Amino acid sequence: MIEANNPQWETWLPVPEKSDFPIQNIPFGIGVFGPGIHHACTRIGDTVIDLYALAENGLVLHSGVENPEVLKQEVLNDLMKSGKSGMRQLRDHLSRLFRKDNPLLRDNPELREKCLFPYKAVSLELPVKVENYTDFYSSIEHATNVGTMFRGKENALMPNWRYLPVGYHGRSSSIIVSGEAVRRPWGQQRPDPEAPPVFGPSRLVDFELEMAFVTCGENQQGTPIPVREAEDYIIGFVLFNDWSARDIQGWEYVPLGPFLSKNWASSVSPWIVTLDALEPFRVEGPYQEPEVFDYLKSEGKRNFDIKLEVIIQPENGEENVVSRSNFKYMYWNICQQLAHHTVNGCNIQIGDMYASGTISGPSPDSYGSMLELTWRGANPIKLNDGSERKFINDFDTVIMRGYAEKGNLRIGFGEVSSKLLPAIKEWK
Ligand code: MN
Repeated sequence: MIEANNPQWETWLPVPEKSDFPIQNIPFGIGVFGPGIHHACTRIGDTVIDLYALAENGLVLHSGVENPEVLKQEVLNDLMKSGKSGMRQLRDHLSRLFRKDNPLLRDNPELREKCLFPYKAVSLELPVKVENYTDFYSSIEHATNVGTMFRGKENALMPNWRYLPVGYHGRSSSIIVSGEAVRRPWGQQRPDPEAPPVFGPSRLVDFELEMAFVTCGENQQGTPIPVREAEDYIIGFVLFNDWSARDIQGWEYVPLGPFLSKNWASSVSPWIVTLDALEPFRVEGPYQEPEVFDYLKSEGKRNFDIKLEVIIQPENGEENVVSRSNFKYMYWNICQQLAHHTVNGCNIQIGDMYASGTISGPSPDSYGSMLELTWRGANPIKLNDGSERKFINDFDTVIMRGYAEKGNLRIGFGEVSSKLLPAIKEWK
């Protein structure tokens, strides 16, 4: 068992009941600890722990971190050069430091003051410089729903879909962290298929409920990553809202796929929850038929039972849960995705982000986009203030939360939350 995962561990830090961040989680993020001061950090309960402050005070010796300067940067990319094993060693080390019976920091108020902060006092940044961003399309329920809407039930899944994890290369520059607002985009659309296209603000702004994995290893160009080794390259996951403008998408996507409908913003949760921490929540994926090619054959439990929900919160209004889904529904798992991505010799980089594609479950209340939840706007969702939504309105905040739970153990992500601002007024 991974040392930090032992469910017996208790911490001397207070951890509220139902917290996403027990001592068994120990995610990694980037916090702002003063003007322009960015440090790597973790969170236990409601306490954010400054890892560079720990290092300055001699508390990360023998932790796998050879050069403490990697904890003093705007992103985790250099820290992650220690790879999966280095990050595991650091997580184990942090677990030891905060265990109930370890007096080192527990009994030193002066040191505690330098290293520990209430989570509300620390703003969190995008945890990695996203070198490359790929978006898959790996939920069979989502692909079937969208295919049914646009091509009919008979042709819902394209012929390639069960043979390979469909994906496309997205835009990394517009990936932003939870809390940052996004703006309704302008673009070309063709609302009337018999008339010429029009140019204006998108009227069909949607979310996509996704999870994304982050890589902490690199392969050489020309050398594929075998499916059985894929997890060695993956540090963990964030929640991922892949903002989408459906009207722009519908007009532009043939024949090369989505472009401006998707590249204006994607929002992520600030904590990278490690694959290691999610170890207890592994489950079998769905049965794959037809049998996949050998290079895609993965063994063991490669899916994760992570409960997901999407909330719409109107300006000054209450939260409305509009979807409850689960990461376990994915047809293609992360090992298959990475093996497929590199089977042609494509080289991945430390800090790449790979999103799952919209995660829809089998029931209509588990669909991962408004497109599906309202079936293209045909069945609007009623919010508890009486208003209706077909898609996302100006000033709505979209919140995604996720956690895994088994017995008394709960490992969570916190949330990714972002408000949609109105489009710019005029085009100059
Ligand atoms: Mn997407």
